[in-house]
Amino acid sequence: MTALSPSSRFRDPQLSVRAFVGTVLVRCPRCAEAARVVPAAGAPGDAASMFAERSLVCRGCGLARRHPGERLVLRFGAEPVTDPYFGLPLWLQTETRHGLLWAYNPEHLTLIRQFVEAPLREHAPWHEPGARMSLIARLPAWIKRAKNRTEALRGIDRLRASLTG
Ligand SMILES: [Zn+2]
Repeated sequence: MTALSPSSRFRDPQLSVRAFVGTVLVRCPRCAEAARVVPAAGAPGDAASMFAERSLVCRGCGLARRHPGERLVLRFGAEPVTDPYFGLPLWLQTETRHGLLWAYNPEHLTLIRQFVEAPLREHAPWHEPGARMSLIARLPAWIKRAKNRTEALRGIDRLRASLTG
């Protein structure tokens, strides 16, 4: 993964949201605690592919399910936002006054936070390959507005707090 400079300048690493689909935290359909959707162990093919077979694993209640990794549903507009495999609500999502904040996993959340808190944001030029698929470029407009920074950071902190429970 691209290293981000710790300075106040945010440079879009141009990662697609697909870069974070390797681990997706979801709400367990059985115990309502945080469960994980991860590449299935021992599955044939490229485990790094988003189309690799997936496992749903919950450490809380022991639930384990498999998904073939086909017919994925990527739906970002609908609420609640769900994982592309099992269609379970993401664990990391919260309503703010301006809209919904969500992330697939803690690393995804960290990238969004680095973007939101940076006073200087460098956008990749639109003609650069990959720029259109950049998850930063595709964040909802309200998250990008400087005047919404405090509200967005508050939401991100709520999501972070839900990880330590
Ligand atoms: Zn569970």
